[in-house]
Amino acid sequence: MTSSTQPSAHYDAVVIGAGFAGLYMLHRLRGLGMRTRVFEAGDGIGGTWFWNCYPGARCDVDSMQYCYSWSDELQREWQWTERYPTRNEILRYVHHVAERFDLNRDISLNARVIAGRWLTDAGTWQIDIERGPTVSARFLITATGCLSESRVPAIKGLEQFKGQTYHTGRWPKIPVSFAGKRVGVMGTGSSGIQAIPEIAREARELVVFQRTPNFSIPAWNGPIDPAHKQHWMANYPFLRERARNTRSGILYDYGTRSGVSMTPAERQEEMDSRWRKGGANFVHAFNDTFVNPESNQFLADYVRDKIRQTVKNPATAHKLLPHDHPIGTKRICVDSGYFEAFNRPNVTLVDLRNDPITGFEEHAVLTQSSRHELDAMVFATGYDAVTGALERLNLRGETGQSLREIWKDGPTSYLGLMTAGFPNLFTITGPGSPSILTNVIVSIEQHVDWIADCLQHMQANQLERIEPQPAAQDRWVAKVQEIATGTLFVKANSWYMGANIPGKPRVFLPFIGGFSTYVAICRDVVSKGYEGFTFSALASKPSCS
Ligand code: NAP
Repeated sequence: MTSSTQPSAHYDAVVIGAGFAGLYMLHRLRGLGMRTRVFEAGDGIGGTWFWNCYPGARCDVDSMQYCYSWSDELQREWQWTERYPTRNEILRYVHHVAERFDLNRDISLNARVIAGRWLTDAGTWQIDIERGPTVSARFLITATGCLSESRVPAIKGLEQFKGQTYHTGRWPKIPVSFAGKRVGVMGTGSSGIQAIPEIAREARELVVFQRTPNFSIPAWNGPIDPAHKQHWMANYPFLRERARNTRSGILYDYGTRSGVSMTPAERQEEMDSRWRKGGANFVHAFNDTFVNPESNQFLADYVRDKIRQTVKNPATAHKLLPHDHPIGTKRICVDSGYFEAFNRPNVTLVDLRNDPITGFEEHAVLTQSSRHELDAMVFATGYDAVTGALERLNLRGETGQSLREIWKDGPTSYLGLMTAGFPNLFTITGPGSPSILTNVIVSIEQHVDWIADCLQHMQANQLERIEPQPAAQDRWVAKVQEIATGTLFVKANSWYMGANIPGKPRVFLPFIGGFSTYVAICRDVVSKGYEGFTFSALASKPSCS
């Protein structure tokens, strides 16, 4: 791994980001014989799992599925230890992959891409690296992640606060101790719900500032079940293929009946059995959870009952009851003792809807009705999801306009893979692809493979430039929104809708038509000669250094 690059180097391809997407992309590009460089902003590889080292950070996809499938040896040799892998274990896995496939030598760390422009005549991308050289590449591929542009909300007076402040997605790499401290946590999404029980155990006092109560399902995490592991190890290729044929790329136990069609006893048994197993599988109890409000309500009521049973103080329990969105339409959370944490004497819940923050002082947060003295404040306030990291790159296409400018009314992308006017720029898990609605590793692999196959096609046919046709892109953008409109997801103020970022256009960001459907569409596009894309040979070639 290097922390510098050759000055003014020219590459066949530059990849931005060294997380799961960037690493696999590098591997595939090498296989095509392309001279490739990966630029990574962080001082380590792993992307999301490099940055997110907050207390309790772990993945809530089954560890046997939350890993690459492109190397059978790799998936057979790696030994997961828990049902849901911790951040540290995932990061160890990432390092293992990078070493095993000798990836590190083509990765530049501490190398944030701060701008890029397409040079039409040269047919290359020119890319600026912070405190580094400007490089050029025929192809530019973003692997910046959908949840990497962390966001601390603008809160009046925050700059006056003299205590420590943290964001879960930018957690320091040095140990953080909350022992004996008074800590505030703002945010009760997946990150907050994981961090809160851990911080509650350590801190002297914990104040949770909640804006929207959230649904969460117990993880019942523990050592991996040896029989489960053995089953996966013995049947990996088959099970992976089955997962790819589902709507989320994850082998859940997808319910086949409408919640409404079941008798009350059948429904209860279905929900009880899923609750006992734990995890996100719970919301897949019915085949119409996300389109039928009645079926959705059965599950939502069930979880609300569980919250009432778990949280001993009825007033606190009441504040924790999710009420403003159908279950699952904000990313479902999976927890280890989240609601139980509110039974601890050192934990206080502040309902910001009824008692909003009015400001910060040097050592306290003020709400309309109270003052909370704090030594540290943790923001688990999420991300400018899907588009934020891409827009930040300041990439300018053929007309000189940036992605941010072009996307001011919502992202435009064909298949989530490319944007018209930005030739030779591929976006792994870009807007309008299934990405964050799936096991994102499965989505990453599909995109990387599609891009690599496309580049191979271009090599074979001496094609040097590819871009989507505006009409094909318009149709895709409309389709993404049309499918979302038929679901309950559009009823929630979620980050899927861009609703968490003030001023962000309210459009549904991922493709919700299902992973397997999306894959079939991508295959169909290829089989029809890359329908909707335009290829060309370039008149002049850039000189290589
Ligand atoms: P998030 O889901 O966007 O949650 C952010 C939280 O901060 C929400 O409770 C939000 O309230 C609150 N918030 C934001 N701005 C606020 C403000 N101005 N005042 C008060 N509260 C505010 O972010 P996240 O928890 O980091 O999770 C993001 C995604 O990352 C997840 O949905 C998931 O896809 C992924 N993730 C996965 C795992 C896992 O695998 N277990 C763990 C962590 C993250 P509102 O709801 O009112 O907006």
